[in-house]
Amino acid sequence: MHTSFNPTVRTLMGPGPSDVNPRILTAMSKPTIGHLDPDFIRLMDEIKSLLQLAFQTENQLTIPVSAPGSAGMETCFVNLVEPGDKVVICQNGVFGSRMAENVTRQGGEVIAVENEWGRAIDPAKVEEALKANPDAKILAFVHAETSTGAYSDAATLCKLAKQYDCLTIVDCVTSLGGINVTIDEWGADAVYSGTQKCLSCAPGLSPISFSQGAVDAVKARRHPVTSWFLDLNLVMGYWGEGQTRAYHHTAPVNALYGLHEALVILAEEGLENSWQRHMTNHLALRAGLEALGLSFIVPEDERLPQLNAVTIPDGVDEGAVRKQLLQQFNLEIGAGLGALAGKVWRIGLMGYASNPKNVMLCVNALESVLGQYNAHINKGEATAAVAAAYAG
Ligand SMILES: *Cc1c(COP(=O)(O)O)cnc(C)c1O
Repeated sequence: MHTSFNPTVRTLMGPGPSDVNPRILTAMSKPTIGHLDPDFIRLMDEIKSLLQLAFQTENQLTIPVSAPGSAGMETCFVNLVEPGDKVVICQNGVFGSRMAENVTRQGGEVIAVENEWGRAIDPAKVEEALKANPDAKILAFVHAETSTGAYSDAATLCKLAKQYDCLTIVDCVTSLGGINVTIDEWGADAVYSGTQKCLSCAPGLSPISFSQGAVDAVKARRHPVTSWFLDLNLVMGYWGEGQTRAYHHTAPVNALYGLHEALVILAEEGLENSWQRHMTNHLALRAGLEALGLSFIVPEDERLPQLNAVTIPDGVDEGAVRKQLLQQFNLEIGAGLGALAGKVWRIGLMGYASNPKNVMLCVNALESVLGQYNAHINKGEATAAVAAAYAG
């Protein structure tokens, strides 16, 4: 006989998903209504305006795509890239490579700007590429590289793109809610995010926002969008203004209850307070990890507070440590990705999971498990270091 699935309660401190706020889980368990029900249409309108708040934009086309962050990424590329288009892609981690893959699959030409992993994107290199490719149509970059824990200067990169007459595609999956994402101030054109990182919502939705310039580019396409599901011309008939919404697909009704609650929680806390909380907990975690003797791979002024990539002590089997953390402490942290596989742990402090209790748990659990593996760490200092950081 099959029985119900009852997952163990974990503390999620990896690169995502992050711990889901119980208020969001409660919201998601409310009764399902029809996706064209007037109550639901009202909810959709509220989600759009809450997303405008979170993204700090007045863009009309600000909606959640009914699929995870990767689908938000794909929505931007399939709608804006046409065969033969030149796209400058900044690469400083795994997600930039995925952007390149999206461009190639649309028949576009990738101009790659390579940056060191673990560092911010260098605007000088980007300008060089834009200068050398005056016919480039789009500049794409990742604001917060979850694979390394580095963030880039989105304002400067968007400004550069404008100077060279390019649209921008910006990945804000890990940044939204954790650090400042301000679309209108940046002048970004197509931005996508995700629900499962600093919004602390269940995985599976991808908020996007398109500027008027990006919408005009979609409308002026020479070829139809190759994806039917992600074609914004069609999606807008469903998510657009007014009560006369055409059926496109059945919205994930309960998942959207969750996103609505997540955005209400963010609005209640206030954007700035949320960024500040992420920073305070990051500094405390940092104090604890450094007291243990672990070091960060990203320079301090390029470091994301919500994603902490730290080196693994010599001779330690990193996979075994993560397994032990999960088994003994129900604590999930992340492994390295791509070029950093086996070299770092990625410790997330995202959204609801960014709190003092988790910081203490993580530092103490790591100390305990690393002690079991006889790793060369400093013992007995981490808790005090965390406490001192919170004491200011
Ligand atoms: C997590 C992540 C994605 C992909 O989101 P999914 O919800 O896993 O599809 C894209 N970009 C960045 C920077 C991410 O951290």
